[in-house]
Amino acid sequence: MTDKYVQFVSHGIGKDLAKRLGLPQPAVLRRYKAGEPLVPGPVLVLGSGNGKTAGADELAAALVGWGLDVRRSALPKEKLGAIILVLDAVEHPEELAGPVLTAAPSLRDLAAGARVVTISRTSASAASPAVAAVRQGVDGLLRSLAKELRAGATANGILLGDGAGTTSPSTLGALRFFLSGRSAFVDGQFLTVTSDTGRLPADADKPLAGKVAVVTGAARGIGAAIARTLHRDGARLVVVDIPAAGDHLAAVANEVHGTALQLDITAEDAGRRIIDHAVERHGGLDIVIHNAGITRDKLLANMDEGRWNSVIGVNIASQLRINEALLGSDQLHKTPRIVSVASTSGIAGNRGQTNYAASKGGVIGMVRATAPLLAERGGSINAVAPGFIETDMTARIPFATREVARRLNSLQQGGLPGDVAEAIAFLASDAAAGITGEVLRVCGQNLVGA
Ligand code: NAD
Repeated sequence: MTDKYVQFVSHGIGKDLAKRLGLPQPAVLRRYKAGEPLVPGPVLVLGSGNGKTAGADELAAALVGWGLDVRRSALPKEKLGAIILVLDAVEHPEELAGPVLTAAPSLRDLAAGARVVTISRTSASAASPAVAAVRQGVDGLLRSLAKELRAGATANGILLGDGAGTTSPSTLGALRFFLSGRSAFVDGQFLTVTSDTGRLPADADKPLAGKVAVVTGAARGIGAAIARTLHRDGARLVVVDIPAAGDHLAAVANEVHGTALQLDITAEDAGRRIIDHAVERHGGLDIVIHNAGITRDKLLANMDEGRWNSVIGVNIASQLRINEALLGSDQLHKTPRIVSVASTSGIAGNRGQTNYAASKGGVIGMVRATAPLLAERGGSINAVAPGFIETDMTARIPFATREVARRLNSLQQGGLPGDVAEAIAFLASDAAAGITGEVLRVCGQNLVGA
């Protein structure tokens, strides 16, 4: 389940060979390690220009407060760790030229694993066609730029709704996530901040300190990685999986100093049993990660009831039932957070996966509709949509198809389970409280499909 090719072409003879034959040369990605700098060099912060630099000025001051080496103009040939384009005040497409073309030459001198982040406003709330045009233009600009960057650098954007500003807690939280190695496999994506709620953690390395989290499907793969990452970030864990995976589940529970709950999540009373376990063993519940999922692939022409129903049952019907129990319970702690695992198949579709894509599209619809219900309790719910991730699930794909699938994204490699886990850990934190009803793709910017 590892992509040995990435290691092979990253140095020595493999690197020379790939260059000469014109083969893909994926970079070893910059991933989070405690104690390492947030970005690999100075951060250039550029504002909208035309005297509208208040948002950029405020943001630059906040970043200086984080101890970053902040620049308001680039020095020639300096290797930058990040470029942040604060475009919150642009009102016409002609205004993009200033900041964008000022940043352009610096793109040639980015450090390996650098980040470009745009901060702009959602086009839905624009007051005129010109404002909507420039705001939506940022979308096309960012997604194209992400496809141009090399050496593991990524570009992502933050969209501000009417209730959020450039230094709102979740704007800063999302910015910190995008700048850090936690977002290594997130590329060409946007996160929308809709409100001013939330707070940055006292300790940036322990953003989930004091929280109790449940992770379903945690015996292996992405679920086990989520449990490890939430534990690293300070949460106390309940790990859930089917009884048949009991040994692996117990091993994960031991590793993360949590408790194991053997449970088939399709059981009618699964929600109640999860809440009871969390309350009895940990005194309550703050975070639920709906990760358990299965595939039963067949062309629709050959689909049978068993395959169809089991995928819908595990991947979405159980989540709906568990959420109903959670929303009806008075034993959740304040500000509950739910994160569901969807899939890029549920967004772009995938041959042979009508049942799976229906279930994962279902997760996205469910998350959007549940957001206002959770907001009433000060909570949030979001989905993460992984693309090609190196797990048992994708190891079963035939070699040639697998090799194509893992290279067809801007980073030319599959993601690791930990990459999905990092995005989930961020969305489960109070720094993401102003983000809800959203779907964040962790796919290296898949080139096929939307
Ligand atoms: P995996 O098959 O390695 O692990 C899934 C886990 O869920 C297993 O431990 C399994 O026992 C458990 N599970 C299955 N049915 C269950 C049930 N009824 N009750 C409780 N537990 C149950 O899969 P993975 O690759 O780690 O995928 C995890 C999630 O990520 C799934 O929702 C999957 O659809 C999604 N996903 C994976 C990829 C990928 O590339 N691997 C891509 C997109 C989305």
